[in-house]
Amino acid sequence: MLNKENKQKEAAWRPYTLIVFILLIGSISTLYTVKYAGDSVKKSLIEHTKLVASTLDRGNINSLSGNESDVDKIEYINLKSKLIDVAKINGDIKFVYITSMRNGEIYFVADSEKSDSPDYSPPGQVYFEATDTFRNVFVNNESAIEGPTSDRWGSWISALSPITDPKSNEVMYVVGIDMNSRNYYTTLIIYGSIPALITILLSSLVLFLYRERRKERDLLALRSEFVSIVAHDLRTPLVGIKWSLDYMIENESQNLSQNQKESLKLMHDSSVELLKTANQILESTEMEKREAKSLILKKADIISILDEITAIFVIPAKEKNIAIVRSGTLPKELNIVCDQVKIKRAISNILSNAIKYSAAGKTVTIGYKSTPNTHIISITDQGIGIATSEHSNMFKEFYRTSKAAHTSYGTGLGLYYVKKIMELHKGRVWFESSEDTGTTFFLEIPNNLV
Ligand code: ADP
Repeated sequence: MLNKENKQKEAAWRPYTLIVFILLIGSISTLYTVKYAGDSVKKSLIEHTKLVASTLDRGNINSLSGNESDVDKIEYINLKSKLIDVAKINGDIKFVYITSMRNGEIYFVADSEKSDSPDYSPPGQVYFEATDTFRNVFVNNESAIEGPTSDRWGSWISALSPITDPKSNEVMYVVGIDMNSRNYYTTLIIYGSIPALITILLSSLVLFLYRERRKERDLLALRSEFVSIVAHDLRTPLVGIKWSLDYMIENESQNLSQNQKESLKLMHDSSVELLKTANQILESTEMEKREAKSLILKKADIISILDEITAIFVIPAKEKNIAIVRSGTLPKELNIVCDQVKIKRAISNILSNAIKYSAAGKTVTIGYKSTPNTHIISITDQGIGIATSEHSNMFKEFYRTSKAAHTSYGTGLGLYYVKKIMELHKGRVWFESSEDTGTTFFLEIPNNLV
């Protein structure tokens, strides 16, 4: 019991561990994707800036004085129109500008804003907010990217690329391209949201499936308990009814008419059937409770077990004129290590179904086959068969095919019970069937169960 509780607790932890694992992997991939997207945006911005720097006409820029007097010069007008064109190409770019350094101060040579724009920087305007990274481009002659940084115009990711004097190799100008930080963050959010969404979806799916399974399990447990209480409470009065009917048939029936005798027999047979059903239900719920318990393993002769079972079913088989035969593959003696009582129940369930779901005059065949590691007992009938669409449900608790439900009375617990028994033996039960031709059930028991 304690063992079962521990197992249940362990099972309850498993989905949460899985969710934590998914969240961990999801967070790592989200961070990685965000970083990758950020690096890609910056890389492409800096490449773009280098390209612009390399295409600008140095001679043109050199002819400018770096003050307001430049605005009427044709070189300035040409340069500005080029910078405006560059800014227009990419919607993410806000400013393109050329700067230079004078007396330790960085100032604008030209920018991509029209002169009537509030963001326009006239030639010679000092850029007080220049960071060390910006200044270092003049000193180190190396392109750089910085940001998000803020200045009087807003918050930016800025790519900076130097233009050098070919003779002295000194940095004369620095070309800058600014991307709005908001656009940068939006790109990161878009990229990061994909793995984040997948993570959330996966975790929710695991949680949802786990909750559904738990609900289903609780419902089944409740139903099992309810059915077992009903079956238990029915059994006592049923035994009373059966005893009274037994007594009446034995002692009082001589005074009854033929019709009354037949009714009495029908009542008696029905009470026996009901009692059997109640017992079967109780057995199956008991079986579930004892599921974790080990088997009582002993060497048993399966042929003798088959003899005993066949003897029990001779009368119901005869009533339907059904022959129970054995195929030539059955040996004279077959000693198998198993739980004799449980295996007997499993074979009985399969054989009883073979008779129950066969029409009069048919044959039921018991066969045997061995594999290097297992013994396989087969029971073949020529009965109503099982439709392919119902195959996957056959071992579910309380499941009955619609065809069977119309032909005979049953609980849908027998096969469920057989499966449990075979699983306890580390064996298998399966079947092959086609509608109206018949069904073969196979019971496989490992031969190393010592
Ligand atoms: P029950 O026979 O009491 O309904 P079982 O669990 O033994 O319960 O069987 C479940 C269902 O499987 C049956 O209701 C029937 O639909 C189907 N079944 C079992 N054995 C056979 C068989 N030999 N031929 C056809 N259908 C079968």
